[in-house]
Amino acid sequence: MTPPCIICVAITGSLPTKANNPAVPITVSEQIESTHAAFEAGARIVHAHVRNDDETPSSDPEKFARLKEGIETHCPGMIIQFSTGGRSGAGKTCGGMLRLKPDMASLSVGSNNFPTRVYENPPDLVDWLAGKMKTHGIKPEIEAFDLSHILQAAKMHEDGRLADTPYVQFVMGVKNAMPADRAVFDFYIATVKRLFGADAQWCAAGIGAHQLTLNDWSVAAGGHARTGLEDNVRLDRETLAPSNAALVRRVVDICERYERPVATWQEARKILGVPQA
Ligand SMILES: [Zn+2]
Repeated sequence: MTPPCIICVAITGSLPTKANNPAVPITVSEQIESTHAAFEAGARIVHAHVRNDDETPSSDPEKFARLKEGIETHCPGMIIQFSTGGRSGAGKTCGGMLRLKPDMASLSVGSNNFPTRVYENPPDLVDWLAGKMKTHGIKPEIEAFDLSHILQAAKMHEDGRLADTPYVQFVMGVKNAMPADRAVFDFYIATVKRLFGADAQWCAAGIGAHQLTLNDWSVAAGGHARTGLEDNVRLDRETLAPSNAALVRRVVDICERYERPVATWQEARKILGVPQA
């Protein structure tokens, strides 16, 4: 039996709006409903940002608290991952919700370019966020936008700033950052295995049309997969994705094709070393 694949759904993000795709969940109640459908479809991690009513990004811990409560009620067992990214330049306000103790939180350990700006993660902010996650027993997911971010995570693990073996997500296809390059993808996997051991778990996310490519590469190569409207709002060039769940179902199909069972939430927690709910 091949190892189960953990599907992560990035429901909202900080950029897509209803104008891009009306299915993007913006309010907390829309987010809970969309997460529930994605959970039913096979998603085991929800990666979440919150928004203001005018769709601009928010860091409001109160919104995160309501979202967490709703997901715990409607999707028991699902791993909740808060985003600390997506609000470059906002400083420590992006980590104000970590005191709510989600199961996981995303952590960017370096900076790089984004489509129209610098995605700025200065060392003192990275260390502060990592410290909060350690204090609250939150498992970080390392967002690797570049090779150096994987090596920085290794350094942080070595010197104790990260409690556990890093769970790394490769992000490819962001304009002006790392493209979806197969040779680099393979080298990322080799680097994770070299630094963190042959059993080290990893996942990958592709942006826009690269989402499907990265889903396919990850499932085939034994990794875990991220999908969702944060990264991509389309099924193909002509068709908007009708929901987060539809994008999850697309990954479930890929898992079937490569004979990878979709992880249950219990399996996902065990594989990632996240305490059972
Ligand atoms: Zn995000």
